[in-house]
Amino acid sequence: MSRVRAVALYSGGLDSTLAILAVMRQGIEVKAVTFLNHFGCEISDKSSCSKDPFSAATKFGFEVKLCHLSEKFIDIVKNPKFGHGKNMNPCMDCRILMLKEAKEFMLMTGSEFIITGEVIGQRPMSQRRDALDIIDREAGLRGLVLRPLSAKLMKPTLAEERNIVDRELLFNFGGRTRKPQMALAREYGLTEYPAPAGGCLLTEPNYSFRLRELLRHDPSPSLTDLHLLRLGRHFRLNQGCKVIVGRDKSENEKMLALADAGTVLLRVPGYGSPVALVAGPITGADLATAASLCARYSDARGLSVVDVIVSQGGSEQVLQVAPASAGLVEELMLDMARKSRIGLPA
Ligand code: SF4
Repeated sequence: MSRVRAVALYSGGLDSTLAILAVMRQGIEVKAVTFLNHFGCEISDKSSCSKDPFSAATKFGFEVKLCHLSEKFIDIVKNPKFGHGKNMNPCMDCRILMLKEAKEFMLMTGSEFIITGEVIGQRPMSQRRDALDIIDREAGLRGLVLRPLSAKLMKPTLAEERNIVDRELLFNFGGRTRKPQMALAREYGLTEYPAPAGGCLLTEPNYSFRLRELLRHDPSPSLTDLHLLRLGRHFRLNQGCKVIVGRDKSENEKMLALADAGTVLLRVPGYGSPVALVAGPITGADLATAASLCARYSDARGLSVVDVIVSQGGSEQVLQVAPASAGLVEELMLDMARKSRIGLPA
């Protein structure tokens, strides 16, 4: 007889790993799916993710499939049916989208149900009991989503009613404490797991401020525009154009990697200089403003006139500009703290 299968939403974090192990311990084969979006940490970014986000999968022997939500995710960020959280995070819609995608995978693999590591009451918006019911209903998965860590606080799912899963071996964890999960991890021999993550970039106030501002000016931003929101200081020059000034070597390098042949780049020769990248079409006076901003953040900022090299594709020109004044920086910089200080909408 073939083994019962389940599909798990897997982030690599403690809760989703424990949920999988709890079900595997009942002899059920688990196929995990990790969903990626443009606003999460990069799997290769060792500074924000654990060294090997899938070390538990290797250790305990379950498969992980990666699935990028791409445009579908951007659509819900722009227009979430259930609204945004405190910032631009559409957590309810995000969970629904992930479950809808997992449902496809469940049907494809002949699996019986879906597992998530959600714990009732752990997050204010998407992990209330009523919110979880709505999420399952909207995903077309009523009774088919098992949350092993909080199962005993919830109505039995179909898998429990059909005795595919023994409810007695599931848990009643609730709220924000992680002590029961840590104790269970010890019991399961799960020794390495990442610190709890606060959510994706959309939960960050300043990133959300920049994204809202971008969407006001361009309802369909490119992926490059979205990636650039993570980097540098941003200045809006006009409706369709921003200049982004790198804050350190690593940001300069990332910005250069995002530039294509048509991108206008600026730098100050002969001095320590940031990379300044122009996002959008730019001409005349705005180019001089971009150059003055680049000069302001270079080591030549004390000079009255600074040479700035403007390059695009293979061509270069030199502009001579005065470094931007503090007043101009205040006026153009897109920074939540500054704008709220001068009374502009965040
Ligand atoms: S924090 Fe971001 S990735 Fe996590 S559920 Fe919310 S929107 Fe989705």
